[in-house]
Amino acid sequence: MLYRDAIDRHKAMLAEMDALNLIRLTGHLHLYRNEAQLAKDEASWQTRRMHGIPLERLSRKEIEALEPDIAADYQIGMFLPGHGMTIDPLVMATTVAEETSRRQVRFVAEKVLRLVPEGGRIVGVEAGGKVHRADHTVVAAGMWSRELLRAIGYNVPLESQRGYHIDVVDPGVSPSRPVIPADRKVFITPMQGRLRVAGTVELLGLDAPPTEKRARLLLNDLAAVYPQVRLDKLQDNWMGHRPCLPDSLPVIGSARKWAGLWCAFGHGHLGLTGAAVTGDLIANLLCSRPVKVDLAPFSVDRF
Ligand SMILES: Cc1cc2nc3c(=O)[nH]c(=O)nc-3n(C[C@H](O)[C@H](O)[C@H](O)COP(=O)(O)OP(=O)(O)OC[C@H]3O[C@@H](n4cnc5c(N)ncnc54)[C@H](O)[C@@H]3O)c2cc1C
Repeated sequence: MLYRDAIDRHKAMLAEMDALNLIRLTGHLHLYRNEAQLAKDEASWQTRRMHGIPLERLSRKEIEALEPDIAADYQIGMFLPGHGMTIDPLVMATTVAEETSRRQVRFVAEKVLRLVPEGGRIVGVEAGGKVHRADHTVVAAGMWSRELLRAIGYNVPLESQRGYHIDVVDPGVSPSRPVIPADRKVFITPMQGRLRVAGTVELLGLDAPPTEKRARLLLNDLAAVYPQVRLDKLQDNWMGHRPCLPDSLPVIGSARKWAGLWCAFGHGHLGLTGAAVTGDLIANLLCSRPVKVDLAPFSVDRF
């Protein structure tokens, strides 16, 4: 339940930046063709119920009331009213970066070559031909955290589940919220001025080039849910890394082997959701403020 207050954390951060318009509390709509399909996911719905996550089962008529364009094949909906979305992850990330840089955060656009150990502490990083010294060093380099930590004795079994998205402009359908067809395992999300379909898991590591075909296959998933969709204006496709760990938990907190070292990576499929939560935790830890979460399960020393 690390992410239970993720939306509140995002709202608090964006409100401070006068950018609350970047997220919308629309709920998420999961779709099933029939009872047999729904039964396959019962364990995950049961887990959500157990943890008190609000959810509603919807009939076909209720699906239509929320999202009129959805193909008639989808007869059952599971609606998560407390969930939300951003209207554009890139705009959100650049807004946060610009706002923080106005508040004394200094960005140095250099590749970190190594963490610098000295007398049992990590004392900073080497980048751009010099050592940047710091009282605290936070490794938040997504998939690339693995190599940075390997050099100081950690063998973190981080693996990339590569995923893709493709954006369609003027699609002729207009969902109001993320729509997730269970048989396709993709997210269809309205973005500013375009419709995005995202998904797939590809295990090809960090260096292989993107498989363009995979992004284009997402259009079949989109057409299964919206048979009337227009696909003549494709705007953008993208491949990204989801940094995943075998126990599906991220790595957050201090490192036992090295004083001054902190970790914030491995959020897998939920790194955008978890960003504000992890950022808040790390900020509190660095300032020696109490945190409510037991961080033991998230320690880098578990590997
Ligand atoms: C198709 C797709 C859809 C997704 N959808 C969602 C979603 O709906 N909701 C959600 O919550 N999550 C989603 N995710 C997951 C999310 O994108 C990731 O969990 C998240 O990006 C991880 O964030 P991160 O900051 O840890 O790593 P990254 O986003 O990979 O960022 C790491 C950064 O570190 C930099 N870096 C690496 N090495 C160095 C170095 N040596 N020196 C300096 N800088 C370095 C990199 O350049 C990069 O900017 C999705 C992912 C994909 C691929």
